[in-house]
Amino acid sequence: MLRKKSSLLFLFLTCLTLSQSVAQTVEQPKLVIGIVVDQMRYDYIYRYWDNYSEYGFKRLVNEGYFCRNVNYTYVPTYTAPGHASIYTGTTPSMHGIIGNNWFDRTRNKTIYCTADYAYKTVGSTSSAGQMSPHNMLATTVGDELRLSNNKKSKVIGIALKDRGAILPAGHTANAAYWFDDLTGNFISSSFYLNELPAWVNAFNKENHVQKLLNNSWELLLSPDKYSQSNADVNKYEGMFKSETSPAFPHRLPLLMKDNGGLGLVRLTPFGNTLTKDFAIATLEAEQLGKKGTTDFLTISFSSTDYIGHQFGPGSMEMQDTYLRLDKDLADLLGFLDTYIGKKNVLLFLTADHAGVENPAQLGDLNIPSGYFDSEHPIDSLKSYLARSYGDTLVLSYSNEQIYLNQSYIRSKNLNLENIQTDVAGYMLKFRGIANTATASTMNTSEFKNGVKSFMQNGYNQKRSGDVLINYEPAWIEFSRTGTTHGSPYSYDTHVPLIFYGYTIPKGSNSEAISISDIAPTIAQLLNIQFPNACSGKPIIQLTK
Ligand SMILES: [Zn+2]
Repeated sequence: MLRKKSSLLFLFLTCLTLSQSVAQTVEQPKLVIGIVVDQMRYDYIYRYWDNYSEYGFKRLVNEGYFCRNVNYTYVPTYTAPGHASIYTGTTPSMHGIIGNNWFDRTRNKTIYCTADYAYKTVGSTSSAGQMSPHNMLATTVGDELRLSNNKKSKVIGIALKDRGAILPAGHTANAAYWFDDLTGNFISSSFYLNELPAWVNAFNKENHVQKLLNNSWELLLSPDKYSQSNADVNKYEGMFKSETSPAFPHRLPLLMKDNGGLGLVRLTPFGNTLTKDFAIATLEAEQLGKKGTTDFLTISFSSTDYIGHQFGPGSMEMQDTYLRLDKDLADLLGFLDTYIGKKNVLLFLTADHAGVENPAQLGDLNIPSGYFDSEHPIDSLKSYLARSYGDTLVLSYSNEQIYLNQSYIRSKNLNLENIQTDVAGYMLKFRGIANTATASTMNTSEFKNGVKSFMQNGYNQKRSGDVLINYEPAWIEFSRTGTTHGSPYSYDTHVPLIFYGYTIPKGSNSEAISISDIAPTIAQLLNIQFPNACSGKPIIQLTK
């Protein structure tokens, strides 16, 4: 009897608990905004801090939660893998975006990450819209949001770069929009829609790009405020075509002709302003966050990357770009205050990779660095292989990976693993190469840390090459001006990550966080399924 009573009590309590939880609705923010700043190094937060306004980066840091030790955990640290990893919560080994381009063995040619000729450009006569996310093998957090509520949520991606818009938005996105150099329009692909919405056409007709390029690019502040940067004229930065000096002001109307016409906007901070204006237009026109289900907008600011490549982290141009991006962020945050309110929007800001200080400048400061030119080493390798095996064997060298002619190797009954080992040993003799590893090693061993773990996280068994190469720190294959990225070193992997709005507490931490942790954190805050190949974990300070 006693036992029966207690089980009745248990039943009563269980029902009470269940009815309570049923009565509550699942908590979600009305709007999620993911911001990627292309090539933003962690140190730009503090390097330029004193000259930021109170309303952009400083507002995010002061009112949000700043994760100060967030790193990429794979190579190569490039744009497409970065964007895919942020939103799928995993690494190229699983989401399959192993580079911006890669050699496709089945088609025997190099393919572009989002190219898809099954689709047409929407909004231009150019081919810039023949794109889809098809090569990305995993779902994004936006896909999981759409799956969670029978596609009631809207998910839209925008960026100047196609890959910066397409990969974050995912497979089930309502739309992705990116910039078309030919027309200066934001365009899309027939993968998403058959014609541009009226509001996108209206935005395009307003000639934003032409207006942004009507004036010179001048310094935002007086020159003495740029003391964190090199002198305006120095040998470490590139110039626009037809310029005779890299000095401010950059006379944009005159530069258009030789620098890609309307596409010049990409190489100026005004490309970020254009992106911000289009983001606000998207929020308003699509009424994101205003329809009762959570919507998701992904924004990628691409100009920071183009400018970084041309001028490098030490340039006044880079500093000026971040001071101006700070203003654009302030505009966006201010807009969100009145549009939807801070507590209704969950926002994060991070980067798809960082970048190295100009190696020539590092060299002049006695810091080991260098420039790798793969042409001679690869030619030398081909000659060696021809002598040893009767064929040059190298089909491609891309993303620091050597692709061997496997069908020739099979047809001659040669041992692929032995040849990989031979190539890996041969390449080590060249200056600037720090490590090599074979695909066979990647397939048969599991690396938990160190350079080989970065290689393994970036290694996709079907898409990656036969021999993987890692350069020494501050060695790049690039021009001697400006910078690039791609390595497993801190200068390329360490990026800022700030969460803001909704239930995000104020604070910061210095715990080691992987870039793969962003998507499961967002998923946890939305109470939805993690992306389907997710290998990251939620950041517990934000989700408890
Ligand atoms: Zn990038």
